[in-house]
Amino acid sequence: MPPILANYYLTYKCNSRCTYCDIPIKPENIRIKESQPETIIENLAALKRLGVKVLDFTGGEPLIYRHLPEVLRAAKEMGFFVSIANTGTLYPRMAKELVGLIDDLKFSLSTTDRDAYKAERGIDGYDRVIESLKLARSLGERPSIIATATKESIWGMEPVIRLAQELGVVVLLGPVFDFCGNDLLHKEGVKELQRLAKFDNVCVNWAFLEFYLNGGNQIKNPRCRAVSSTIVVSPDDHLLLPCYHMHDERLKIKHENGRSNLDELWLSPPVQLKRKAEGSWDFCQGCTIWCYFETSFLWPPDKYFLLNIKSKLRWGKEKAKQYVEAKTGLNLTRKLPGSVDKKVAKLPANPMSGSGAEQSAGCGTCPTGSSSSSGASQCGSKSGANESGELVSPVELIRRN
Ligand code: SF4
Ligand code: SF4
Repeated sequence: MPPILANYYLTYKCNSRCTYCDIPIKPENIRIKESQPETIIENLAALKRLGVKVLDFTGGEPLIYRHLPEVLRAAKEMGFFVSIANTGTLYPRMAKELVGLIDDLKFSLSTTDRDAYKAERGIDGYDRVIESLKLARSLGERPSIIATATKESIWGMEPVIRLAQELGVVVLLGPVFDFCGNDLLHKEGVKELQRLAKFDNVCVNWAFLEFYLNGGNQIKNPRCRAVSSTIVVSPDDHLLLPCYHMHDERLKIKHENGRSNLDELWLSPPVQLKRKAEGSWDFCQGCTIWCYFETSFLWPPDKYFLLNIKSKLRWGKEKAKQYVEAKTGLNLTRKLPGSVDKKVAKLPANPMSGSGAEQSAGCGTCPTGSSSSSGASQCGSKSGANESGELVSPVELIRRN
C-alpha cells in the first residue's frame, strides 16, 4: 500500500507556547531555514507521483508561513485533500486568501476559560479564536474545533462542546499524547472522552481511545505504520524518519530541473528498511503520537481498523449536518443544556468588517501580544507584521531587537 498522508511541516515557528509542545522552542528548530514555495510545490508533485492523497500542512503555526496561499493553490490544483490545524489567532489576516483552499480547516481550542487558555497556550488569544471560527463560517468554510484533553482541561470539555454547538461547528476531541515529557491523560479522562463522544457535534477516534487505554504501541507487535502510511517533510526540505517526533534520520531532498526526488528517496532501500522496522524501536514502546495512528489503523483489518472506520463515518455524518444547517438554516443539533458565555455572542461575526483585523490583532506573532482593539503589542508593531511587512516569530523578534 502506498503512503496516503504527508505531514508537511512548513515552519517550526509558532506564536503560541503550549505546555505540551516543544516544537517552536527546540534549539535545533529555532534557526531552521524555511523552503521557498517552488521547492515545496516540486515536492507536492513528487508526493502525487507516490500516490499520496492527503496533505496535512503543519508546524509550528502553519499560518506563519508567508507563502501559504500559493502552496495551497498548487496543492488544490494537484487534487490533494488539504488539512490544516491552526491556532486561530492569525487566521483573520489571511482568511480571504484561504477561502476554498482548505478541505479540513481546524482551530485549536481546549477550554472556554480565558485564563485557562492563556495558562495552557501562553498567549491571550481566546477571543481571537472565536472570532476566527465565526469569520470562517461567514466566508462559507466548514471549520472544526480540535480540542486536546489534558489532565487539566478534560473536565472543562462540556462547555467546549456547548460552544461548538452554538457556533455550528464540529469539535474533535482527543487526548494529549506522550511527547516532550508531558503527562498522559489518565484512564478516567479517556472514559470521560468516551462519554462526551455521544453528544451532537462531537467526534472522537474510537480506535485511538481504545489504543490509548491499551497502553499505545507495543514494540513486540507494533501497530504503528508511520513510515508506510505517512511521509514527513521538514521546513528545510528533508525527509524525516521514522516520524517527526522521534526522527533519528534526516534525508536531504534533491531538486534538479524543477523536479524533486522525494518519491525516489522514499522508495530507496534505506527508507524501505526503516519501513520494515517501524514501531519496533525502543522509543516506540507505549507510543501514542496521534499524528501517525489514524493512518496506521487503515490496515490490517482488526478492531482498530473497524473502530477507525466507525469514527470516520461519524465525522462524515457530523460534517454533513454542519453543511445542511449552514445551507438551510435548519437546526438539527440536539444541544447540551446550559448556557454559553455571553461574551461569545457579542464577538463580531466578521471581525474583518469592523476596525480591521490587522489593527485589532497587534502583530499577532508576539506571545504576549494583546487581542484588544488598541492595536498595541509587545513588539510595538501596529500592523499584522513587522516594519518590513514580514511575519516573524517571537524568537526572531527577540533576536533582531
Ligand atoms: S500551537 Fe501547536 S505548534 Fe504551537 S506551541 Fe501549540 S501545539 Fe506547539
Ligand atoms: S511508534 Fe511512535 S515513535 Fe515509533 S515510529 Fe511510530 S510514531 Fe514514531
